Amino acid sequence: MTRQVSAAILAACMASVALVTGQTKVTAPDNNYSPADDVKLGREAAAEVEKQLPMLNDDRVDGYVERVGARLVENIPAEFRHNGFRYTFDVVNLREINAFALPGGPMYAHRGMLEKARTEGEIAGVLAHEISHVALRHGTAQASAAKPYQIGQIGSAILGAIIGGKWGGVVSEGGQFAFGAAFLRYSREYERQADILGAQIMARTGYDAREMASMFRTIEEEGGGRAPEWLSNHPNPGNRAEYITREAQSLPVQNPIRNTPDFESVQTRLGQMPPAPSTEEAARGASSGEGTSRAPAGSTARPSERVEAPASKTVTYNEGDVFRITVPSNWRELASEASVTFAPEGGYGAVNGNSVFTHGVQAGLSRNETHGLEEATEELIAAFGQSNPQLRRAGKAARTTMGGRTTLRTQLTNVSEATGGRERIMLYTTQLKDGSLFYLVGVAPDGEWNAYQPVINRVATSIRFLQ
Ligand SMILES: [Zn+2]
Repeated sequence: MTRQVSAAILAACMASVALVTGQTKVTAPDNNYSPADDVKLGREAAAEVEKQLPMLNDDRVDGYVERVGARLVENIPAEFRHNGFRYTFDVVNLREINAFALPGGPMYAHRGMLEKARTEGEIAGVLAHEISHVALRHGTAQASAAKPYQIGQIGSAILGAIIGGKWGGVVSEGGQFAFGAAFLRYSREYERQADILGAQIMARTGYDAREMASMFRTIEEEGGGRAPEWLSNHPNPGNRAEYITREAQSLPVQNPIRNTPDFESVQTRLGQMPPAPSTEEAARGASSGEGTSRAPAGSTARPSERVEAPASKTVTYNEGDVFRITVPSNWRELASEASVTFAPEGGYGAVNGNSVFTHGVQAGLSRNETHGLEEATEELIAAFGQSNPQLRRAGKAARTTMGGRTTLRTQLTNVSEATGGRERIMLYTTQLKDGSLFYLVGVAPDGEWNAYQPVINRVATSIRFLQ
């Protein structure tokens, strides 16, 4: 009898130990920023997101996502709660299955995600994953590690990574062009953390965490041969379904919530609306009246006709730990949404609310990792062409080197929206060690090309990669 009791007690102890050790402990990464920085950056980026992306603005759908999200937020473990964070959920009227989070709490779910989800639990899985990125402060943690620009510019860099832009930052078919990408393209380790913490939050809220894994499977199948947009921000750390399932097994939930009448009625409502556009279609629509180049954020002046010739004196800049570049001393460094532009006074500004540059160079990084140089360059030019319908190739691409790496040099022509005049463009593209595509694009009006071409060429020659 005594022995049996001991055995029962022992079994109970083992079960509770197993439960505790079964849950993976998550530790927020080091972060040089304060939680108040997260709030400020996220708020700035959110204002921009809501201006640039097609928001659904449907009270019933937004209200539903808010309610599911709010219940998950209540179950964020105490150690990951931050004063001042405000978790909000909005729906973007885009077809792809995607979602993203900004520092400090603003979160966005694509309508496509709500439509493709088979259960409320699947929606909760995506939201819990995004909530975890916010709570673990992954955006600014990543910025702490990368830090190419000053803090005031990170908000726009984050934004560039999400919505892309035109020159230097388009969200194209699965390819996003951005330095800012560093801030939003979470590392695989952060992805894993968001999956694990997300699974724990789901279980605490009453959902079966395995539904997160099933939503991720739907997302990965969606792409059809092409990488789904979701994966460009949330790379698969590998064995995703397996470790989420394992975590879920340590988080048993009695009678988990799967479907709710709310879920059914929201899906019916979405089905009655006109179909959501794809990101590409939306970008095309929004880009009518778009300028040559995405822009120095905050510049409001129009580019002028009078632009000082490139100085013969030069200045060298280190762009984070990515590259070094030497440009004429009278060109300003304009860290933009998703790239960095160097242009003379009068050679950049805004047209119809869009930033453009007519003289100078812009450098950016595309995260397209899956193609060879030729193919990646094709995709980049196609992406530029979406917002620059007059963009044309002028001859065949030539092989050269930049920073010691094999490089394609492609000549293009365009009609500048700023001046209405023809402009010439030289595009240099090369793949970095990690497979991402680095580009340098030089622009000048047709009539000034003879003066600018050698300068643009010298700038390209000056590039040194720091990794
Ligand atoms: Zn993620």
